[in-house]
Amino acid sequence: MTRIAFIGLGNMGGGMAANQAKAGHEVAAFDLSAQALEKAVAAGCRAAGSAAEAVAGAEVVITMLPAGPHVRAVYADEVLTKALKSALLIDCSTIDVESARAVAADAKARGFRFADAPVSGGTAAAEGGTLAFMVGCDEADFAAVEAALAPMARAVIRAGDHGAGQAAKICNNMVLGISMIGVCEAFALAEKLGLDPDRFFEIATKSSGQCWSLSNYSPWPGQVPAAPSNRDYEGGFATAMMLKDLKLAQEAAAKSGAATPMGAQAEGMYALFDRLGGGAKDFSAILQLFRGNLP
Ligand code: NAD
Repeated sequence: MTRIAFIGLGNMGGGMAANQAKAGHEVAAFDLSAQALEKAVAAGCRAAGSAAEAVAGAEVVITMLPAGPHVRAVYADEVLTKALKSALLIDCSTIDVESARAVAADAKARGFRFADAPVSGGTAAAEGGTLAFMVGCDEADFAAVEAALAPMARAVIRAGDHGAGQAAKICNNMVLGISMIGVCEAFALAEKLGLDPDRFFEIATKSSGQCWSLSNYSPWPGQVPAAPSNRDYEGGFATAMMLKDLKLAQEAAAKSGAATPMGAQAEGMYALFDRLGGGAKDFSAILQLFRGNLP
């Protein structure tokens, strides 16, 4: 049994914290949302009144927050000032590489072990304990990070030193954002051509068009039971979050001189869908833009 502090219990963090509790760990949970906190308590966690209260006495601190500024603030104001120096600090949020490195440097300067460990897999994997973690940390700390993440993971891979986990994540999500648009365009075209979308799904998932966005997360309702398309695109991975990740990729590309024209196109498409009201919907709802059905 490990004493774990879990901060950020949203679409992803809720399921992840529940899996830590299910594995027999003592989880002190905190979220600004009372509703998210209530759900975590129902799943076996203990409610803390603040992030600072959650981290007090914890052996492992896990954060799952929206973006870089949230992570920087929670670490500077609460985690690094209130956690035990022996605590292992793991940030699973998707944030910019610079913020991850800045938080890692602050943590290290104060004597903490820190890892950036963003995830791939979506809410179904968060609930099922089958996330893929990409980790940036000191090599010597990896075994402890892997053990701490095990109840939530199907794979834990060390990408490199601090910030490398986030680098892997933004590259992965650029593929995801682009591939989802490709799948949605194909569904819209299939529909216009009078092709049954379910027949197209059956064929393409067995052909060279198959990819995660289609086979595991189809934007067309009724094809993948766990996909957000079956819940009016509620929950899942919000368009605003995908847009955030594509912006991170574009900023990183501009700084490093990489050519990412398809990533830039995808960013523009999700920005448009966000402006048209789709920001809170799962990113696969961008299908409706191609079909001419705005949210
Ligand atoms: P979410 O918005 O559902 O959850 C974030 C939670 O953080 C919210 O409940 C919010 O109240 C809480 N929060 C914000 N500031 C806080 C603070 N100061 N203290 C405590 N709680 C605070 O987002 P999500 O979908 O769970 O995503 C979380 C992270 O995981 C993001 O960085 C996202 O990019 C990444 N991610 C999401 C998915 C997905 O499918 N949803 C997949 C992979 C990675």
